[in-house]
Amino acid sequence: MDWEVVIGLEVHAQLNTATKIFCGCPTAFGAEPNSHTCPVCLAMPGALPVLNVAAVDKAIALGLAIGAELNRHSIFARKNYFYPDLPKGYQISQYELPVVGKGTLTVQLADGVEKGVGVTRAHLEEDAGKSLHEAFIGQSGIDLNRAGTPLLEIVSEPDMRSPAEAVAYLKKLHALVRYLDICDGNMQEGSFRCDANVSLRRPGAAYGTRAEIKNLNSFRFLEKAIEYEIVRQRDILESGGQVVQETRLYDANRDETRSMRSKEEANDYRYFPDPDLLPLVLDESRIERIRDILPELPDAKRTRFMNQYALTAYDAGVLTAGRVLADYYEQVAAGVDGKLAANWVMGDLLGALNKAGIEMEDCPVSAEKLRLLVQRIADRTISGKIAKEVFEEIFYRGGEVDAIIDGRGLRQITDVAAIAAMVDAIVTANPQQAADFRAGKDKLLGFFVGQVMKASQGKANPDQVNAILLERLRKS
Ligand SMILES: [Zn+2]
Repeated sequence: MDWEVVIGLEVHAQLNTATKIFCGCPTAFGAEPNSHTCPVCLAMPGALPVLNVAAVDKAIALGLAIGAELNRHSIFARKNYFYPDLPKGYQISQYELPVVGKGTLTVQLADGVEKGVGVTRAHLEEDAGKSLHEAFIGQSGIDLNRAGTPLLEIVSEPDMRSPAEAVAYLKKLHALVRYLDICDGNMQEGSFRCDANVSLRRPGAAYGTRAEIKNLNSFRFLEKAIEYEIVRQRDILESGGQVVQETRLYDANRDETRSMRSKEEANDYRYFPDPDLLPLVLDESRIERIRDILPELPDAKRTRFMNQYALTAYDAGVLTAGRVLADYYEQVAAGVDGKLAANWVMGDLLGALNKAGIEMEDCPVSAEKLRLLVQRIADRTISGKIAKEVFEEIFYRGGEVDAIIDGRGLRQITDVAAIAAMVDAIVTANPQQAADFRAGKDKLLGFFVGQVMKASQGKANPDQVNAILLERLRKS
């Protein structure tokens, strides 16, 4: 029997403002515990929150980017619960009226199909502090540096139907917040993390009971956790049991989810409007000002790359997945063939970065240097094969493209007489193969090309070698 998986994601994006959302403390990661605190974020009696408008601007930018309704009037609410790293005993969030309403994020799936995933809402809230369990024996420490850092919680509709769709959505949203420069997207440090709501149903039936998997901080963990959850829930349902609504944690070491607590309902939190904060009112000029400075977004850039550089949808999609990569590609493609530049960036460069475990941001080869290398293939100074050798050198050891080409004598041989001499020598040295070729064994051409390239140490221009060989071999 078939089951359909239904997935909705709640993403917490830490907004990259310099200071916290309701006080002037810095948000920088990695400071001495409790050094970035003040009476407001420590919840001293009488201390009052003051809204950081930079956080509001970033929420507006996201809303505009996904074509969402922007609520001109929204409310900050207190979400009440006790936890040691929550000094006020409540979290300031938005409940009934979030700043960003319904929107849509379009994701590209592996088969080239596009799918619009509904975004229910995005609301502003403050983060809690951190409990530190590792540094102490038999006790826990509390670090309130993170308490009060601004978060945008982006809640999707339950529109995704496979782990792959969920990953595609999360990747797209991750790219978008970085394009917009509203979140650094650092998943390891927790500045971009997600909760997944997963349930199963018979196709067309009402939604089943869902489990919420908390705090997934990598694309791979999201995929693995959903895959595990599908099997777990299916086994329960097929043995006649019922899925319990609960919060679960994904354990990457054991590749399984396990129960953390029964799921609380919204009314357990006793939300009420925060009396210390005025309603958030957006005026049109503020929204228009932000609309005016929005950067080119991934979908628009992808379409432009296809038109401007004659790239396939797939290539354009890969190259626009991140803003840094997209900018890099455009610098390489300036003045050289767009497709050739794409092959080098996507193939050799991304391959080498991946192999070395280096992020695009820390790429050791500047775009200008790679552009010059591609230029040297285009102007036939070196062959594509020799270029790979030069690339290895500049990637792992540095140096300048032209200096390496000249220093190692790698210039391509394009002198017709020189190539013809090499061809003649090879044909003369292999009379039997030459006779066989003339008798119809066409595939022997590859043998001859290989021999000439070897004799030239890879430097002969392959097109010319081919042409001259054919001419010589056909002469009997
Ligand atoms: Zn503070």
